[in-house]
Amino acid sequence: MNDRNSSRLAAFGGTPVVSNQNPSLFKWPIVTEEDEQAVLEVLRAGAMSNTDITKKFEAEYAAWVGVRHALGYCNGTASLLGAFWGCGIGAGDEVICPSVTYWASCTAVLGLGATVNFADIDPDTLCIDPGDIEHRIGPWTKAIVVVHYGGYPCDMDRITTIARRHGIKVIEDVSHAHGSLYRGRPCGTLGDVAGLSMMAGKGFAIGEAGMLLTDSDEIYERAIAYGHYERTGGPSRFAKSESAVKGPLARFRGLPIGGHKHRMNQTCSAMGRVQLKYFPERIAEIQRAMNRFWDLLEGVPGIRAHRPPKDSGSTMGCWYFPRGLYRAEELGGLPCEVFCDAVRAEGVEACSPGSNSPLHAHPVFHEADIFHQGQPTSVAFGQRDVRQGSGSLPNAERITEISFGVPWFKHDDAAAIERYAEAYRKVALQHDELLT
Ligand SMILES: *Cc1c(COP(=O)(O)O)cnc(C)c1O
Repeated sequence: MNDRNSSRLAAFGGTPVVSNQNPSLFKWPIVTEEDEQAVLEVLRAGAMSNTDITKKFEAEYAAWVGVRHALGYCNGTASLLGAFWGCGIGAGDEVICPSVTYWASCTAVLGLGATVNFADIDPDTLCIDPGDIEHRIGPWTKAIVVVHYGGYPCDMDRITTIARRHGIKVIEDVSHAHGSLYRGRPCGTLGDVAGLSMMAGKGFAIGEAGMLLTDSDEIYERAIAYGHYERTGGPSRFAKSESAVKGPLARFRGLPIGGHKHRMNQTCSAMGRVQLKYFPERIAEIQRAMNRFWDLLEGVPGIRAHRPPKDSGSTMGCWYFPRGLYRAEELGGLPCEVFCDAVRAEGVEACSPGSNSPLHAHPVFHEADIFHQGQPTSVAFGQRDVRQGSGSLPNAERITEISFGVPWFKHDDAAAIERYAEAYRKVALQHDELLT
């Protein structure tokens, strides 16, 4: 290849910077014979629906993050529903949640007769904007849901201060942030309760599974009564004998109080125990790789790393769903979409604009009548009408203009990472050729 062709943008017929993708650089989860053996043992014993292995996994996960109770779930959505009911959210209530997140962060509150008051995001962290919370709080507000977006820890000091001032709960959605630290403390231990996903695509990936984490005996007992009927009133990690647990919900033993069944499949919990053993070292390598990638792009105009400052004690954990921050004004106003098309032409498939679409204007929150009451569920249980249309949350609505995807490296392969970084650098430095 001649110099001319390699320096020309691939979008205009030049040679792509990244030519042969190495799939093992991105393969996740990393599955070894040890995982396979653990799952096979469950299958051969026919123990898929038992809870003995799940309880061991819960205890190990709880010990790893440093929380009193961990409760295994069939998926992350169910763990968050358990957290909502566990916090006492019910008819007429309101929770505050960022608009840019996966729907499971909040949508289940509709099924409890509550509604969601959506807050804007901070364009630098892509997490809930702590300055857009307090004016939304009233007597109807029961909780703030925070999502450590793409692994980036939310500003928990400010958020928990606000929550404490108003006597409301903080629910962490840790689905993106397994292993993330906020000022040295693990995400999932920073609020009243946390729910998280462990589905196959996530940073901690064991199939369809989730986990609830809390230090509160009350929330734990409520979550059990809601979705784990056979464990209601039973022994916990802290009360080993049947008779030792006599909370106010113990009398409901035998039936789930909400009619839900949230148990984790033990093929998942068996794999989870193996994954957890290697998780710290595997995410340490991801962090080295992702930090290497972003260090290479330091100072390139128009693009910024989505990561906390290096000396903050905060980390990106497993760096799930990695984003970059886009600043069109530094690239002559080049639209993020055009930038991403050009980076993809250079061979980087992960580069697409945006992240999750904003939720606040979705018809489910505006119109859906789940309970056939002749009115939208979001206002049918005496909730305040907090429905917000387009134009109300400007940063959330700009998400496809201010963020883009970057490769999620699982291995710290310096030469390969340099190529990927070069693709972004090349397009940013030659952006004027893309301006029409
Ligand atoms: C994936 C995800 C969930 C839901 O978890 P499931 O296991 O898919 O039910 C919830 N919140 C966020 C932020 C997620 O990314």
